[in-house]
Amino acid sequence: MTDCDFLVVGHGIAGATLAYALRQRGAQVLVYDPGMANSASNVAAGLMNPVAGKRFALSWRAAELLPSAATFYRELGQRYGQPFFTETPIFKLFGSLEEQNALLARSADQPWGGFVAALATTDPGLPGVQAPFGGAWLQGGGHVAVRELLAALAAEGTRAGWLRRETFNWAALVTDSAGATYAGQVRARHVICCEGAAAVRNPYFNWLPLTPNQGEVLDVECGGLSAAQVLNRGAYVVPVGANRFRVGATYRWPPFAEGPTAVGQEELAARLSVITDLPFAVLEQRAGVRPTVRDRRPLLGPHPTVPSLSFCGGYGSKGVMLAPRLAVLLADWLLNGTEIWPEASVQRYRALWPDQAARPAR
Ligand SMILES: Cc1cc2nc3c(=O)[nH]c(=O)nc-3n(C[C@H](O)[C@H](O)[C@H](O)COP(=O)(O)OP(=O)(O)OC[C@H]3O[C@@H](n4cnc5c(N)ncnc54)[C@H](O)[C@@H]3O)c2cc1C
Repeated sequence: MTDCDFLVVGHGIAGATLAYALRQRGAQVLVYDPGMANSASNVAAGLMNPVAGKRFALSWRAAELLPSAATFYRELGQRYGQPFFTETPIFKLFGSLEEQNALLARSADQPWGGFVAALATTDPGLPGVQAPFGGAWLQGGGHVAVRELLAALAAEGTRAGWLRRETFNWAALVTDSAGATYAGQVRARHVICCEGAAAVRNPYFNWLPLTPNQGEVLDVECGGLSAAQVLNRGAYVVPVGANRFRVGATYRWPPFAEGPTAVGQEELAARLSVITDLPFAVLEQRAGVRPTVRDRRPLLGPHPTVPSLSFCGGYGSKGVMLAPRLAVLLADWLLNGTEIWPEASVQRYRALWPDQAARPAR
């Protein structure tokens, strides 16, 4: 029988950061993940964008989450001798004069913290970029090589024995008041589900309002296009070196196609063509499934009636920025009982738990 404090199911960015935070705090951790090339984390462009979306809104808790994520990824870069995090300005192109005017009007109220460095009202003349209405320069963000980071952690995990390249079978889990036993072989004080979008099929957590959303990204080669910043208009264009750029992403609700699609490629190529009139070649195309939540907030915390089980996920399209700080939040709750932010706690969906009989009387 293998004994551990925490059994973590899933080694995407949610599970990997949680396992890391728990190990840093001296806990014995065992992680299960078969290693899927098309997991959301392995497909993600790794962008950390403090101001996002059509509404140009400041991301949830960006002032706290972004610096903490940047510090975490830098530290890991030093530990593994690989620069996982690249801090880069993000240039958000205005699509029209109306958009430019609306942003200029809003900028007087400083609604974006310190993240908007400057607003350009004319084309700044970036090589290969068509920005006739100017745009907004964002600072403090950047991009993370998520696939490489997870591979480095996983290589250490398999070497050290804390990561098993296996699919976890929830039917083989037996819980009791002091913890859980898995397949008669592993004993843990607590089991945490970090399965990403696959959690919709989890027998303990399928009541959570998690909806899978499929996304695609392209890797393109585009000689002459400015690589000094991330570009964003309808799509993001992340420079990844040697005239290569990652272009993303599409959003599709179920039913999904199996893997990348011609429609996805056309959509992303069309959006890139709005940003640049330079020719480009598609080198690679990938598809993955995001775990999204109805209210666009993460899901963290314990199962309503099985105290040795918890959930960690629901990171939607922002897992890279959210994961490091939320891993610390959950690790501190698991080890010291500190509070989980109410807006991120699974507790807010307690009413969806179908086991009415097990609910305490009000
Ligand atoms: C096309 C695309 C582009 C994106 N771009 C960005 C971006 O630029 N920036 C950003 O912040 N976010 C981006 N995202 C979103 C980001 O990928 C997610 O928020 C994040 O990866 C979710 O992490 P996760 O660990 O919860 O899930 P996942 O990455 O899906 O990881 C879940 C893991 O659990 C494992 N697993 C599942 N079931 C089991 C089981 N029974 N046993 C063992 N292991 C299991 C899987 O193998 C997987 O490794 C993008 C997503 C997509 C699809």
